[in-house]
Amino acid sequence: MPFDDELVELTVSSINALRGIALAAHIPPPLEDSPKCPRCSLVGICLPDEVRFLNRPAVEPRPLFPALQNALPLYVQSPRAFVRKDGDVFVIEVEKEKAAEARVVEVSQVALFGSTMLSASALHECVRRNIPVSWHTYGGWFVGHTIGTGHHNVETRTFQYQASFDSKKCLQLARGWVAAKIANCRTLLRRNWRGRSGFENDDAPEESGDEESGSSASQAPPELLTALREDAAHAAKAPSMEVLLGIEGAAASRYFQNFSALLKSDTDPTMNFDFMGRNRRPPKDPVNALLSFAYSMLTREWTITLSGVGLDPYKGFYHQPRFARPALALDMMEPFRSLIADSVVLMAINNGEIRPTDFIRAAGSCNLTDSGRKRFIAAFERRMQQEVTHPIFKYRLSYRRLLEVQARLLIRYLSGEIEEYPNFVTR
Ligand code: SF4
Repeated sequence: MPFDDELVELTVSSINALRGIALAAHIPPPLEDSPKCPRCSLVGICLPDEVRFLNRPAVEPRPLFPALQNALPLYVQSPRAFVRKDGDVFVIEVEKEKAAEARVVEVSQVALFGSTMLSASALHECVRRNIPVSWHTYGGWFVGHTIGTGHHNVETRTFQYQASFDSKKCLQLARGWVAAKIANCRTLLRRNWRGRSGFENDDAPEESGDEESGSSASQAPPELLTALREDAAHAAKAPSMEVLLGIEGAAASRYFQNFSALLKSDTDPTMNFDFMGRNRRPPKDPVNALLSFAYSMLTREWTITLSGVGLDPYKGFYHQPRFARPALALDMMEPFRSLIADSVVLMAINNGEIRPTDFIRAAGSCNLTDSGRKRFIAAFERRMQQEVTHPIFKYRLSYRRLLEVQARLLIRYLSGEIEEYPNFVTR
């Protein structure tokens, strides 16, 4: 290649143009319908088709090609467990005896319960490889998480903080989350209704909140479904946060008053679960213990997802900031409470994976036993890996991947690339 003045000039101007883009501190808009995108390693971050579709819904987005997800979360819950690193393997010891091991490359996150310990070398490895470590109380309450130096794209957090002081934007986001939450609760009731007085269908499909689950044989009361539909419509137009909180509270009370109608009853009455309404801190009965634990796991998933894409999980728009409260994680999980957490509780109870004998009661609180928690965690992981069709983009992806897509769409909204944050609502 001739190394002439023209080439030098082209090279210098290209470098200057690149520097100009970097200095502008604003990501350029994605390419339009480019053949480069489907094979680009950034496509799952950039979401070019999704952004274009949301702005001009003419051509459906091409399916995402998510990175291979061979890595899985590593849960360690034995109070006497110690996790150390040996070469490229995490070794889990209980009272100095090796209990299990997991290859480092096959671990996506580490979740530790109670007084489980992690060696400094294992922690360094996690931090180096961006493997989040989350810490939980023995009962499963999410205490916090450890990450490395954090996401480098500070611009994303700047957009987030700016928007968090814009009361109009806060209300717009909050309305969408609450309306989507109520709509998804309504769908769960509609699809999984067993009804105490209605007949029960032992061949009913697996309980879940998505459109793949089919319908339950028993019908939910139409007046309940109408009331929830109206709650969702009112939430979408709420004039203030105070009004929105009131609508959310009324809808939650309607939903939980009827939640027991989704539970299967056993011919042996001692194997039945009673649910009289929501209580927490501490949960006083098995269903509330399961719901609290599932919400805690979902909070952890959202906290890790948000910090992984560069958002600050502690600065929310609907939930007010409070010390150690992952407000944005709580905001984002609103539409997913019924779809993921409540749905896992229903599956675990109605499939017989969790039974009333899997709980310990002490000092007015109720908690899962070790073996019960292990089975419930497995049910939660199954749900996170379950694929669902995105109602807007029409392609299939796992719930875990879906959380990341929604988090990246929130960034697009905060940066002004799309007009509205599209919530995930099942039919
Ligand atoms: S996915 Fe984004 S970064 Fe990759 S080629 Fe397309 S527009 Fe460019």
